Amino acid sequence: MALIVQKYGGTSVGSIERIKNVAAKVKARAEAGNQLVVVLSAMAGVTDRLIDLACQASQDPDPRELDVLMATGEQQSVALFTMVARDLGMKAHSLLGFQAAILTDHMYGRARIANIESQRIRQMLDTGHVVVVAGFQGLDAETGDVTTLGRGGSDTTAVALAAALQADVCEIFTDVDGVYTTDPNLVPNARKLPQVSYDEMLEMASLGAKVLEIRSVGFAKEFGVRVHVRSTFSDEEGTMVVPYNEIRERLAVSGVAYNKNEARITVKGVPDQPGVAMKLFTPVSEAGIVVDVIIQNSSEDGHTDLTFTVPKTDYKHAMQLVAKVAADIGADEVLGDPDIAKISIIGTGMRNHSGVATRMFSALARENINIQMINTSEIKISCVVQEKYTELAVRVLHDAFGLAEENQPASEEVV
Ligand code: ADP
Ligand code: ASP
Ligand code: MG
Repeated sequence: MALIVQKYGGTSVGSIERIKNVAAKVKARAEAGNQLVVVLSAMAGVTDRLIDLACQASQDPDPRELDVLMATGEQQSVALFTMVARDLGMKAHSLLGFQAAILTDHMYGRARIANIESQRIRQMLDTGHVVVVAGFQGLDAETGDVTTLGRGGSDTTAVALAAALQADVCEIFTDVDGVYTTDPNLVPNARKLPQVSYDEMLEMASLGAKVLEIRSVGFAKEFGVRVHVRSTFSDEEGTMVVPYNEIRERLAVSGVAYNKNEARITVKGVPDQPGVAMKLFTPVSEAGIVVDVIIQNSSEDGHTDLTFTVPKTDYKHAMQLVAKVAADIGADEVLGDPDIAKISIIGTGMRNHSGVATRMFSALARENINIQMINTSEIKISCVVQEKYTELAVRVLHDAFGLAEENQPASEEVV
């Protein structure tokens, strides 16, 4: 008998018809003798609608109340699912985040799971229940408040539960049938990867592939949870997210990701003196704004230009903060551009290979796509380009590394 945690995303439970489809799948797995914990997202579009309502109610919705509101999306879906499941004869029981004792810190809207006291779930499993848990929400044990985990957070609920319960596998059911070489909704010839390593998946998720939420991958890696990403709408095998030593097909580049949610800020003519970067970035970080790619040009006549990216949602605020410091330190001007995209190639194999960056830059150059910024780590290269080139850039890079092909060059051959 296996203990399985399954998570179904918003599209998968987007209508009562689809909830019935999911309940039938769950029933089949339970009847095959497995213990099941089912984590659900809100029905597709519901979380967006709740946020929209909050913005109509208030210009600056109170974060605590916003979490109270957003958590209702998952409350609806677990209740509806459990009603359907019980009608199908399952011994199903729903639990909200606080009832499942999913304990978090107090960061409303992006709370981190600190601990899960899983006794109640275990007892229910032991008495033959299918336990249906609301994703995306938790309880700040100090204040007793409802918290939410950030967009896409039901993935994290599922993987954290799988870790706490030492489940045999965590199955993430979604609207695509696995992790692809790039977003299959953008590039039709993207290829499904049978396996992907935790590290590659971490990079892909952080660079824009929303198929798994980044914190869920962090938990999976930390606690060795085997994650199977697969389709709600077929029984095909999906993608296993596993440790690198289990990966059979090792490629120099295994995926391309894109992120349109960043904006670029350039401070021109910054005096090239110790402490200046600290002065520029301190107010930005104190405002809780996460800075991503940073480039500083080499100094000319004692002055330099500093360029960096921030999330698009923080762009206006960051511009105000930076403009103020720029004036204080005597910089020439501050320029901004919200219409950018970050295109990244990811692959553990690139650690040992030269020529990967050149291949990337050549592919972009052939299409006349100007690279505004470059950022690298051991297993990824990111280029910031104009947003209008996003789709083209992703497609040409996907082709340049032969990612659509079944038998693409092994990492050893790509030089
Ligand atoms: P869910 O609602 O089930 O959580 P999401 O919309 O959060 O689903 O994630 C699934 C989506 O992720 C897919 O529809 C696809 O467009 C997108 N996606 C982006 N990059 C990839 C990738 N490399 N592989 C698969 N899907 C991807
Ligand atoms: N309902 C939440 C969201 O839309 C959480 C999730 O779906 O994972 O972000
Ligand atoms: Mg998701």
